Amino acid sequence: MQKNIQLRDISIKVIRKDVKNTHLSVYPLDGSVILVTPKRTRHEVARAYAISKIPWIRSQQKRFRNQARKFPLKFIDRESHELWGRRYLMKINYKKEKPSVLLSNKEIVLTVRPRSNQKKKSQIIENWQKLLLYNYVNNIIKKWEKKLEVKVKRHFIRKMKTRWGSCNKSSGYIRLNAELVKKPKELVEYVVVHEMIHLIETSHNDRFIKILDRHCPFWRDQRSELNQLPLAAEFFK
Ligand SMILES: [Zn+2]
Repeated sequence: MQKNIQLRDISIKVIRKDVKNTHLSVYPLDGSVILVTPKRTRHEVARAYAISKIPWIRSQQKRFRNQARKFPLKFIDRESHELWGRRYLMKINYKKEKPSVLLSNKEIVLTVRPRSNQKKKSQIIENWQKLLLYNYVNNIIKKWEKKLEVKVKRHFIRKMKTRWGSCNKSSGYIRLNAELVKKPKELVEYVVVHEMIHLIETSHNDRFIKILDRHCPFWRDQRSELNQLPLAAEFFK
């Protein structure tokens, strides 16, 4: 049984594993804290280690919160929006017609009915982004189904708080974080391939890493890039 550590307002999930050293991480998506320790480490020792790291945990959580809150989106003209790892300027057209979104070289052109509020605009953009991501992932899946000799039954784009993706091997379903649409396409591809490899091997064991190394030789860099990029405000609301 896992015994977790609670230090005032900080909850630390403890994972005991076959590792040599204790390792603490703060997850950028929601600021949650994970402590990986060797199986033989006593709970009191793990707890003392966590206590010594409180200032570091707080500074990491603060850094991620600030990153996320730097640019709360307003959906106004000339506002900068992220898509596929690039910045685009928002342009709003007010017209009495069905809302639409068009992507040009530098702009995201959003057409909405007069007096549409911020919530309405954000919904239209969100649905458009979801569709872009869904279609891109669809192509990636087709490409990798042949290479990996697996079959993805369905894939879903979801708002997820702590993970970039998940896979259910028995159902053949893959879920991907809607935020991925803001990341460079090669990073999205890495997440999709990672989840697809879980259709072969559910845990991150040597076999999994071996398959991943063969198909995505740069996955370690891609993973650390994914964990560094600023994340959207909605995770911290
Ligand atoms: Zn995984």
